[in-house]
Amino acid sequence: MCLFCKIVSNEIPANKVYEDDFVLAFLDIAPVSHGHTLVIPKKHYTNMEEIDNDDLCRVITVVKKIGQSLKDNLGIAGYNIQANNNTVAGQVVPHLHFHLIPRIKDDGLQLWSGHSYKDGETEEILSKIKIF
Ligand code: 5GP
Ligand code: ZN
Repeated sequence: MCLFCKIVSNEIPANKVYEDDFVLAFLDIAPVSHGHTLVIPKKHYTNMEEIDNDDLCRVITVVKKIGQSLKDNLGIAGYNIQANNNTVAGQVVPHLHFHLIPRIKDDGLQLWSGHSYKDGETEEILSKIKIF
């Protein structure tokens, strides 16, 4: 059983923020910022590639609800929503989870860096990933 399935079954304790029949949210044990919350489906799905759309809707609805609660109750200016999919993207726990990371002005967090496309690269990447 994976780590987060053990949290779902109460084998491992967690500081729960929200729970219903399908979804659980709890504080990350090593928060990027205070209030960093993880939202998971109770059913084991490794990542976004596995979860069915109905369950994803249930999870993302709770992500939205908790984001609003963090904003209303922590006095934060905003928050990041992040799901690391697969090891190369930083996924350590193989059970789909959304990170909600509270942000305050000038908190110094650098979650990603951007760069510019060179000539022709935009067309090349679009030709590979456009799906409409
Ligand atoms: P990932 O890197 O897979 O996207 O994120 C996994 C997250 O789970 C990390 O932010 C890590 O701090 C958190 N985590 C790992 N073990 C535990 C645990 O036992 N309890 C809780 N609450 N969070 C955990
Ligand atoms: Zn699991």
